[in-house]
Amino acid sequence: MKKSTLIASAAAMVMTIAGNASAAPIKVITTTQDLASIVAEIGGDKVSVESLARGYQDPHFVEAKPSFVLKLYSADLLVVVGRELESGWLPPLITQSRNAKLQPGGTGYFDASLTARILDVPTSQITRAMGDVHSQGNPHYWLDPGNGRRMAKAIETKLAGITPADAGYFAQRYADFDRRLTSAEQRWKMALASYRGTKVVTYHRSWSNFVDAFGLDVVGYVEPKPGIPPSPAHTLTLMQEIKRQGIKIILVEPYFDLKTPNAIARDTGATVLVMPPSVGGVKEASDYIRLFDYNVNLLTATLQGSREP
Ligand SMILES: [Zn+2]
Repeated sequence: MKKSTLIASAAAMVMTIAGNASAAPIKVITTTQDLASIVAEIGGDKVSVESLARGYQDPHFVEAKPSFVLKLYSADLLVVVGRELESGWLPPLITQSRNAKLQPGGTGYFDASLTARILDVPTSQITRAMGDVHSQGNPHYWLDPGNGRRMAKAIETKLAGITPADAGYFAQRYADFDRRLTSAEQRWKMALASYRGTKVVTYHRSWSNFVDAFGLDVVGYVEPKPGIPPSPAHTLTLMQEIKRQGIKIILVEPYFDLKTPNAIARDTGATVLVMPPSVGGVKEASDYIRLFDYNVNLLTATLQGSREP
C-alpha cells in the first residue's frame, strides 16, 4: 500500500471515529412521561428525550403551551400513545411546528400503539362527537407490562432505523430492560395473586389493561362514559351497585375532582384510592417499572386493610 493511501485511510478512520463520537443524540419528544421513560430505557445516552405532558395531568386534556411547538420544531422523533389519546390537543401543535418529519405518516412520527394489545375496541360505531374519548379502543394500554415490553421493542426497532450504527447498543438496552421488567412482573403478579377477582370501581376507564394483567375486576365507573363528568343519576345507580356487590375500593386518577368519589365513599363505606396511571403522577413513580411498583404496593396495602374485620 502506498504511503499516501495509508495516510488517507488513517485520516478517514479518524474522521469516522470522531464522527461517531460526536454524533448528536437523537432528539425525541414524547407526549407522555410513560413513553419518555421507555425511550430513555432503550435509547440511553444516544437519545435526548422529553415529554410534553406531565404524569399528573389528564393525558386526554393537556393544556397546549407555545413552548411545545418549539420543542416539536427541533425534534427528530415524536412518539405518541395514539388511539386518539392526544387528539384533543396534539394535532394543531404538530401542524404549527412545521416540522415535516413529525407530521402523521412522516418518518419522525411514531405511534406506540401499533404493536400493543388494545382492549375495549368498540364493536359499534362511536365517535368523539358523542363525548366518548375512547372511540379507537382503550388508549391507556401502557398499564399492562406486556404492552410496555411491546412498546420498548417497537421503539428499539425505530431508533435502530434512525441510527443503524447504534442498533447493537439499542438491542442490548432492550434486552436489559426486558430482563428487569420480566422479573418485576413476576413480583407484581405474586403480590396481587391472592386478590384475583377483587371487584373495584374506577373513576375513568384507565385501568382496563392493568386489571386484565393482574386479575382484578372493574365493575363500574364514576364517569358515565370516558371523558364525560359524573351525573347525579349515574352516581346513584353506581352507589346501589357498589352496595349490592360489596365493593371496597374506588380508584381515582390524581387529576380528577374527589368530590363525587368522596360522596360515593361516604354513602357506601368504600375507600377512595388515588392511584397514578402515569410515570410522574407521583414522585415515587419516577420511571415505568417504579410506576407499577408504586401502584402494586398501594393496592396490596389497601386490599389487605379492607380484608381485616
Ligand atoms: Zn382515557
